[in-house]
Amino acid sequence: MSTKDLKLKEKLFSSKSDVKENFKFVEPEILYPFCDEYMDYLNNSKTEREAVSSAVELLRANGFTEYDCNVSYKAGDKFYWINKKKSLIAVVVGEKGLDNGILITAAHIDSPRLDLKPMPLYEDSSMAFFKTHYYGGVKKYQWTAIPLSMHGVVILADGREVTINIGEDENDPVFCITDLLPHLSHKTQANKTMSEVITGEQLNIVLGSVPYLSEEKIDEPVKMNVLNILHDRYGLTEDDFISAEIEIVPAMKARYVGLDKSMIGSYGQDDRVCAYSGLKALCDLGKTEKTCMLILADKEEIGSVGNTGMNSDILRNFITVLCRGFDCAPETVFMNSKCLSADVNAAYDPNFPEVYEKKNTAHFNHGPTFSKYTGSGGKGGSNDASAEYVGQIRLALDSEKLPWQIGELGKVDEGGGGTVAQYVSRLGIDTIDIGVGILTMHSPYELSSCLDVYSLYRVMNCFYRKL
Ligand code: MN
Ligand code: MN
Repeated sequence: MSTKDLKLKEKLFSSKSDVKENFKFVEPEILYPFCDEYMDYLNNSKTEREAVSSAVELLRANGFTEYDCNVSYKAGDKFYWINKKKSLIAVVVGEKGLDNGILITAAHIDSPRLDLKPMPLYEDSSMAFFKTHYYGGVKKYQWTAIPLSMHGVVILADGREVTINIGEDENDPVFCITDLLPHLSHKTQANKTMSEVITGEQLNIVLGSVPYLSEEKIDEPVKMNVLNILHDRYGLTEDDFISAEIEIVPAMKARYVGLDKSMIGSYGQDDRVCAYSGLKALCDLGKTEKTCMLILADKEEIGSVGNTGMNSDILRNFITVLCRGFDCAPETVFMNSKCLSADVNAAYDPNFPEVYEKKNTAHFNHGPTFSKYTGSGGKGGSNDASAEYVGQIRLALDSEKLPWQIGELGKVDEGGGGTVAQYVSRLGIDTIDIGVGILTMHSPYELSSCLDVYSLYRVMNCFYRKL
């Protein structure tokens, strides 16, 4: 082709395929310190409660203070509001009035895991175990034969709250779920389907094997010994598990993955990658025209339910209360607001090409992925962003030459999934999904691309400044 025709082709064809350009976008001197801090956040935020605490730490270090409805806030003020210790809203007040709309990014900080049952402890064959009930979409077999840690809170009989964190410190013991040795698996496991290989009731945590030593005859001495250890350390008795939230998560730390250190491996990147990028984007803002908001939501993995999930009136109520201080109508604020529903997407996996449609799938190192719609069975349960809103986003991001791509979650009718987008957009807020492509999503060890993680932060920061 002549140079003229090559130029024409460049103009006509999509510009989204050249990944080499993306690597010129950020210097390693900037990329790796950012990713180091992200991995610290992951290691310190393995539950939604811990993710809120680490977020507050970061926000306070950047001049945010806890929201007080009696304070009259003005442009440039920064504050955060904690909802039941499990979700959070942070705000930077803009120069223009609130009725010009709020720019919202919303991520979720709960991740798939195993929760202890309310009466979890039992002894069988001189070993003590905890029974669990899995939370969110997990492949159960992936949770066996890996080191696990225990995080959570217990409200004791006298009302005191005890925080539990065992298995993260190098000197702590860890926990484990057993799997069957291959030698004896032929009949029991080899011909079973994925969901039957390990069942929900087999997700039992190995806790101990030493009996309580006593002159007296004691039934279930191993259980007694374990309870005695917990009582010595935390003042716990068996009934206290009833008023507890204890989560079992992988004990592994976040690490760089690949000879080229181009990826990050860690538990809980869905969706703490968007939570962290959102936090950094908000903290790095100077003065902004419009008011900017970050939502860190809970319960997304089980349908955004409850009073800490987005399928509640929490956002509506918070903005309504906020409006009182700014003397404006919440309905006007909703109609003029815009949102990035920030949640991870499925990255293309060359090991499983049959479930993806290559042209409309997230690829590593192509930047964060926008999804105009999500859902399943013909976009069911999706927020379908308008062409106009997608147009505004394109214009803003391309004005700063930021890497980004578009993608769907797998082939049509291959499966699918939803996000919090529908619960934001029902308030009248223009909403679009965006997130980092993840490999081995919902597993104990999810992979992301360093470049995509950093690019998401830049995209979110641009959204706050330019929309
Ligand atoms: Mn998610
Ligand atoms: Mn998820």
